[in-house]
Amino acid sequence: MLCKKELCVGCGACAASCETGAVRMERNEMGFLYPHLDKALCVGCGACERACPGLSMPERDRADGKIVASWSMDLSLREKSSSGGIFSLLAEKAISEHGRVFGAAFTDAFAVKHIYVRDRDGLSKLQGSKYAQSDVGATYAECREALSHKERVLFSGTPCQIAGLYKYLGGDDPNLLTVDLLCHGAASPGLWRYYLDLLEKKYGSKVQKVTFKSKKTGWHCASLEVTFRNGKKYRRTKDTDPFMRAFLKNYTLRASCYDCRFAGSERQGDITLGDFWGYRAGASPYKDDDRGISFVMLNTEKGERFFGAVRGRTVSVPQRLEDALPGNLCLKKGVPKPPDHMDFWSTLGNDGFDAARKKYRRPDKRFILNRLLWTPLGIAIRRLLKKA
Ligand SMILES: Cc1cc2nc3c(=O)[nH]c(=O)nc-3n(C[C@H](O)[C@H](O)[C@H](O)COP(=O)(O)OP(=O)(O)OC[C@H]3O[C@@H](n4cnc5c(N)ncnc54)[C@H](O)[C@@H]3O)c2cc1C
Ligand code: SF4
Ligand code: SF4
Ligand code: SF4
Repeated sequence: MLCKKELCVGCGACAASCETGAVRMERNEMGFLYPHLDKALCVGCGACERACPGLSMPERDRADGKIVASWSMDLSLREKSSSGGIFSLLAEKAISEHGRVFGAAFTDAFAVKHIYVRDRDGLSKLQGSKYAQSDVGATYAECREALSHKERVLFSGTPCQIAGLYKYLGGDDPNLLTVDLLCHGAASPGLWRYYLDLLEKKYGSKVQKVTFKSKKTGWHCASLEVTFRNGKKYRRTKDTDPFMRAFLKNYTLRASCYDCRFAGSERQGDITLGDFWGYRAGASPYKDDDRGISFVMLNTEKGERFFGAVRGRTVSVPQRLEDALPGNLCLKKGVPKPPDHMDFWSTLGNDGFDAARKKYRRPDKRFILNRLLWTPLGIAIRRLLKKA
């Protein structure tokens, strides 16, 4: 028996473990992947159950979980990254050890899929958050194959994908370094495609490039930026773009993301990365410059050692968990399902995205305040208040 549907994270560890091909991953009406069992091919070996993170969590040896606010000293690398660019520094280190780096990339059709890269040129495909749920595809098996050759592997993803990997592998490996993200949820891949179709129609051209979190409008007020083949550009901040608004208001997440069992401070990865929204410079001279600050949590000794090797290329300021909690509630618990969640989907299904957008487009007070705080005037006023 595979896990209940509402606990299934779509990691595909069950399908990857089944040697008879009895489990196939198929997309539901929202584009999320779920396993389908062909009973005629099943020999009852139980491998799929043993690999399922929806049935039981992997066992991990965790250290104290030291926390730092950190960012890369390389400004251009930080610009291309969603937070402080720490993922790229870790990935470059793994590549310098002739390793493979696994993470989420866009396909040619701008769906999101896990791949691996071996060089710095390939790394750009993995940089930056893509907020539609990524398809793990064949990467668990590719990771196992690399480890069997004693290659260095860095595997990055959402906590549920990292849990699925450990369950699939049946434990840890000295050459494996995992990076999980602070994750409040992953958006519907079907809705993402539908939204891109709408934009392509409106702009009369196919999409050429997508940046989910462009910092041209600042890190605190980041924008979804879409470039079309005809040279036109769409850019809207996260609180005015309808796809990002619906995502950040938790309307478009996978069922398992609500009250997510992988939320909290006991993490799946050796290293956890996120946005350090609650960063306070305190006595340190390093202020928030609105270019992106990473939340970094070192969950295992292996994670501490690996981050230690790149720390010299960062600005890193030690922080406490309490400082990170207000800006990152997923360090405490998963997000609840909005009470009008079904209303959103039925408006969308019956009347289209425009109708759903009109219903949910009005920025709430928190977004308005956040935007005002990070305008040049807002920054100047805050500086004056601090001096007073
Ligand atoms: C779906 C999702 C939800 C998130 N929610 C939060 C949140 O609530 N709070 C918070 O603080 N941070 C969240 N993050 C993490 C944050 O956006 C950054 O990805 C993280 O801080 C790493 O930033 P970076 O600058 O070090 O590297 P970047 O270069 O920005 O990050 C690249 C890394 O993100 C991974 N990645 C990108 N898209 C996906 C995807 N769809 N699925 C799996 N892995 C992916 C890549 O594999 C790579 O490891 C979320 C990320 C994703 C993908
Ligand atoms: S029990 Fe074995 S054969 Fe049956 S679906 Fe699971 S892994 Fe495949
Ligand atoms: S292994 Fe992953 S995809 Fe398969 S049932 Fe469990 S959670 Fe779902
Ligand atoms: S919220 Fe939980 S279930 Fe959803 S993608 Fe993130 S870790 Fe996976």
